[in-house]
Amino acid sequence: MPTLEVSFLLEQLEERKRRLEAAVASAPQNSSLVDLLHEVDSALDRMAEGTYGICLECHTSVEQDRLLADPLVQYCLDHLSGPERDALQRDLDLASQVQRNLLPKKGLRVGGWETSYHFAPVGAVSGDYCDLIPTDGQLLFLLGDVSGKGVAASMLMAQLHALFRSLSGMSLPLGQIVTHVNRFFCESALAGQYATLVCGLTKSTGEVEIHNAGHCPALVAGRGGVLRIEPTGLPLGMFRETEFCATRVHLENGDTLFLYTDGLSEASNESDEYGVDRVIKLVRHQAARQPAELIAACLDDVRAFTNGSPSFDDLTMLAVQRCC
Ligand SMILES: [Zn+2]
Repeated sequence: MPTLEVSFLLEQLEERKRRLEAAVASAPQNSSLVDLLHEVDSALDRMAEGTYGICLECHTSVEQDRLLADPLVQYCLDHLSGPERDALQRDLDLASQVQRNLLPKKGLRVGGWETSYHFAPVGAVSGDYCDLIPTDGQLLFLLGDVSGKGVAASMLMAQLHALFRSLSGMSLPLGQIVTHVNRFFCESALAGQYATLVCGLTKSTGEVEIHNAGHCPALVAGRGGVLRIEPTGLPLGMFRETEFCATRVHLENGDTLFLYTDGLSEASNESDEYGVDRVIKLVRHQAARQPAELIAACLDDVRAFTNGSPSFDDLTMLAVQRCC
């Protein structure tokens, strides 16, 4: 473990020892405090011996982020005790509930635009981001994918959610909102953490301004076929100073915007990947459907394609249809 982390953990343990000793002195009848003090002493002994942070069961390193969160853990994730496993599961269930509460209302309709989405984390929580924000009769729609998976990615997803939610109320042009979010995100994300994103603003006239920051192509499906809206910028969080250009499209009544994360295009069976071309073909065939039906048809198709192969990635889809 790097020296900086070791000295931080040593400080943490010594601080806990001091506090526990003071607490035991004032409440000697509290046996759980005495037990905790023994645990801290034993961790300090292991640190002195050089065996701290080694799993008692398999003798490999305990995950560093778990030690930083709780310097007393003694088992790697694979060898948690029953009560530890239960506690971790409770935390994950709660995080999952918090993340689900960040999702927009199902079946939202705003100013002549109808929406539907599907959000399916591969584990308890997801690094996928999906939001729908009504602003002055217009609809701001967002779909993104934070690098990595699990709890760390879901925390960054929650941060994106908060940034867009707060900036969308400030009557700024969409391009400026994306630029601000990118800067904030650069300052808070760790090196190597970034987010791809498609976002857009609909008008009641059918005009849509779309920004694609390094994400899979957004699709516009209608009677004229399918239009791909390719990325015009880099993912958020990569470079502090970067430009985000808009693509403007006009949707007729019944035309649909379809956005998805790579959990769809990269879904695979034993021999093949689903792929963007299959997504486009399906969206072209199902273009006349309502948003919820389009998403259900996509889910049916990808399930038939993967044929029971386990999925390894979060999957999110969003359909926004003009219906005036
Ligand atoms: Zn282990």
